[in-house]
Amino acid sequence: MAEQTTLSNRSLYRLPWNLADNAISWLEPTSFCNLACDGCYRDNQKDSHKSLDEVERELDVFQARRNTDCISIAGGDPLLHPQILEIVRDIKSRGLKPILNTNGLALNMDFLRDLKKAGVYGFTFHVDSRQGRPGKWRGKNEIELNELRLEYARMLADVGEIACSFNSTVYEDTLQHVPELVRWAEQHIDIVNTMVFIAFRHVVPQMPFDWFAGGRKVQWQTIPYHSEAERRVDILSTDVLARVREVFPDFTPAAYLNGTEKADSYKWLLTERAGIPGRIYGYLGPKFIELVMSVHHYAKGTYLSYASPAARSLGRLTLLFLWPFDSGIRRAAANLLRRPWNLFRRAHLQTILFIQPVDFMQDGRQSMCDGCPDITVHNGELVWSCRLEELKQFGAFLRTAEKVAGADVQA
Ligand code: SF4
Repeated sequence: MAEQTTLSNRSLYRLPWNLADNAISWLEPTSFCNLACDGCYRDNQKDSHKSLDEVERELDVFQARRNTDCISIAGGDPLLHPQILEIVRDIKSRGLKPILNTNGLALNMDFLRDLKKAGVYGFTFHVDSRQGRPGKWRGKNEIELNELRLEYARMLADVGEIACSFNSTVYEDTLQHVPELVRWAEQHIDIVNTMVFIAFRHVVPQMPFDWFAGGRKVQWQTIPYHSEAERRVDILSTDVLARVREVFPDFTPAAYLNGTEKADSYKWLLTERAGIPGRIYGYLGPKFIELVMSVHHYAKGTYLSYASPAARSLGRLTLLFLWPFDSGIRRAAANLLRRPWNLFRRAHLQTILFIQPVDFMQDGRQSMCDGCPDITVHNGELVWSCRLEELKQFGAFLRTAEKVAGADVQA
C-alpha cells in the first residue's frame, strides 16, 4: 500500500488512447479453447467459430469507428479457428498488425511459419500456473513455467521478426512470483519484448453488492465469471509494483491508463526498460513514451501498440540519441557509458505491463479502464471484451449497487 502514496499519476504519462483512437482492438473469432484457465472471462463453447463473413463485418466495424494500430486476435484460442490463416491475412491486408493471443498449445513450427507467411506481427502467449496444462507442465508453478515461456520465445526468434509477449494472471498466492518472472524477462530481453501481469478478478461471495441487468435483479451465482468461495479479487497494479520493487528498487513505471471512476488508479501501468540480457541499463521515462506515441501518430496515423523486434533492438541508439528528451534515458545512457565495451553490444527495449481490471467503488460504481484497449465488437457495437458474457447472458452490462438490508423485502 505504501507504493500507492509514492506513485503519482501526475508524474506519469497518461497514454492517449480512447474509444475512437486506440493502439489496440480486440477480435474474437471463436470462444472455443483447449484449456480452461482459472479466471477466464469467456464461456468456452465448442461450436462457436465465427464465419469469415462475420469476422470481416467485425473488422469493418473497427475500421469505421476506431482508429487502431493492431488487432489482438483472441478468444477462446484463435489458433483453433480453422480459418485463422485467412483471418491473419485479412487483417494484414487492411494495413493493421495481426497479434495472436494464444495459450500456445496448438502451435508448432510448421504452423508458425504458415502464420508468419500470412502476416502475423506478434504473439501474446498466455502462460500461467492455473491453466490446467497437460503433460509435463501439469502442476508447475510460475517459475517452473519459465521453461515453457522460453520454448515459445525461441520458436518465434527462430522464425524471426515476430514480436514476443507473455501474459499471466496474478492471484493472491502467485503475486510473490512476479519479481522472478521480471528477472527472467531481463535475462531474455533480446527475445522477450513484453511481459504483462493481469490481476485476477471474479465475482465472489464477499462482495457487498446487488447485481442488476437494467432494472432486473440477478443472482451473482448466475454470472459466468464467479467463484463460490471467497477469494482475493482486489490486487492493484501498485501491489504488483511494490512486490517488484522489493527486488528491483529502481523499477520505475512511465505511463498509465486511469480508471473511469478514479483518475489516480493505474488500470494499465507501463514500464519501459533498456538493457542487454542479464543487465538493465535503466528505465525510460514518461517523455520517451510521449515522444514515441506522438511521433508514431504523426507519422503513421495511429498510436503505437506493438513494436517490431528490430525496432526494439535499437535500445543503444535510443539511449545515445534521445537522451536530451527524457531524464530516464539520460540515467540509462550514463549506465551504458560506465561500461563502454557494452557500446558494441546491441541493447534492447522491453515493456513490463501491470493490468488491473474492473474495480468496485464502495457505492457500487465499477471503474473500468478509461480508454480500454481491449474493446471488441458485439452486435455491431464496441464493447468491453472482459465483460462480454454479461451482454450475451443478460443483454446488458450488469450494474452493482451497495446491498441495503431489507431492500428485497420492500421490493
Ligand atoms: S476494461 Fe476490461 S477489456 Fe478493457 S482493458 Fe480493462 S480489463 Fe481489458
